[in-house]
Amino acid sequence: MLEVKDLVVEIGGRTILNKVNLKVEQGSTTVLFGPNGAGKSALLMTLMGFSGYNIVSGQIIFKGEDITNLSVDERAKRGLGIMTQRPPNMTGVKLETLVSAISTDNSLDTEAVAKKLDMERFMERDVNVGFSGGEIKRSELLQLSAQNPCMYLLDEPESGVDLVSIEEIGKTIDELLKSRSNCFVDHNRRGNSALIITHTGQVLDYVEPDMGYILCNGAVVCKGHPREMLKEIKSQGYGECIKCKRGQL
Ligand code: ADP
Ligand code: MG
Ligand code: MG
Repeated sequence: MLEVKDLVVEIGGRTILNKVNLKVEQGSTTVLFGPNGAGKSALLMTLMGFSGYNIVSGQIIFKGEDITNLSVDERAKRGLGIMTQRPPNMTGVKLETLVSAISTDNSLDTEAVAKKLDMERFMERDVNVGFSGGEIKRSELLQLSAQNPCMYLLDEPESGVDLVSIEEIGKTIDELLKSRSNCFVDHNRRGNSALIITHTGQVLDYVEPDMGYILCNGAVVCKGHPREMLKEIKSQGYGECIKCKRGQL
């Protein structure tokens, strides 16, 4: 579904990602772990095509197509959707206006999603302005349901969120990943795909992961079973990144 090949990315002349390789199979949920500053957010932002992330070399292949040089909107049209770590406020844009602007024939039932996320009373408010951490993430998920992507890029969906909202957010992510989008490559295979960054692993209480990667210093140093990785990270921290490097990749 998504393949990153030898990706080298600079921000402001500094190399942030150094030959990253990873794959996300259709219908699979891949988790990206790594210490602060490893380049996880930069990778997701680069995959979505945001400006400032200068691709020096390497390729991003999505559904068999080289999208390395496509704009954000072209990538979104092909089925990539992102929830960033710190979604921006949009003063002067009502959530309702934004959701209807994103909506297409392919959207999920956004009214039902808004109800489930308890976001109905936010529709008249400016996007994310004065929203709490959990409300911002719920608003982002509502926008994703309007977009209905087949590849979800989720950057720390549980960060800044209280425990009650985490359950709501986790369950919604699970539902969105299982929903039917029309941008699959192979319609016989299950559900949407995801690349999820998590520090705490809390989202994995609600979403079943298939594959895990650890990113350190802008490079993938380890690939393996995500739940086992999380266990190791929790008990030993990211010191194991180094050991991993000798072992697996
Ligand atoms: P992570 O998400 O793994 O915590 P990031 O991808 O946010 O890490 O950051 C990776 C590195 O890139 C960090 O050293 C960070 O300071 C740097 N970086 C990120 N964005 C910018 C930027 N806009 N300008 C300069 N450096 C940046
Ligand atoms: Mg971080
Ligand atoms: Mg980050």
